[in-house]
Amino acid sequence: MPLPIAHSVISASMYVAYKGSLSIKDDYKWLALFMSVGLFPDVDFITVPFMGFGSHRGFTHSFLFAFIITTLIFVYLKKRDSALTARFWSFLFLTMAIHPLCDFFTYDYLVERGGVKLFSPFSERYFESPVPIFMGIELRYLHTIFSAHTLLALAYETFISGLLFLTVFYFKTGSLNLDRVLRDRAED
Ligand SMILES: [Zn+2]
Repeated sequence: MPLPIAHSVISASMYVAYKGSLSIKDDYKWLALFMSVGLFPDVDFITVPFMGFGSHRGFTHSFLFAFIITTLIFVYLKKRDSALTARFWSFLFLTMAIHPLCDFFTYDYLVERGGVKLFSPFSERYFESPVPIFMGIELRYLHTIFSAHTLLALAYETFISGLLFLTVFYFKTGSLNLDRVLRDRAED
């Protein structure tokens, strides 16, 4: 997905799946961590001005990168909070690994080299689903970024990821009472 919204919402879904509940007041720090982890593979955008769009979706979009970065984060956090378990790490890893998988299922306008380096550095091949789920956005030109197509892609991925979030929320909490998410848990 080219836009951060869906990555963030899917990462929030992963946090709800891990925690089994969600309260903005209690969980905002962990939620921010999961969302940052879910967005982190796009850190390679900083190379685009120097190396072009061909440098995007490389090693930072591999499963090995997700493994290394989430393990480093886990080791750092574990020193501060010994209660964190391997289950926490596995959800953190999955949250980052889902990012390149979502990009894999996104139509890529870089037709000369579409896809994601899922298995870098072991394979330098760019993998791309023949059947995309998400609409891509042509990011190389301003007139294609600021277009009706972008708005449609944004609405569509918000709908898909929002549906996933509500599904996870419902199965984990047993209700769709999102109002409780925003209220202080002590008031419940
Ligand atoms: Zn990406």
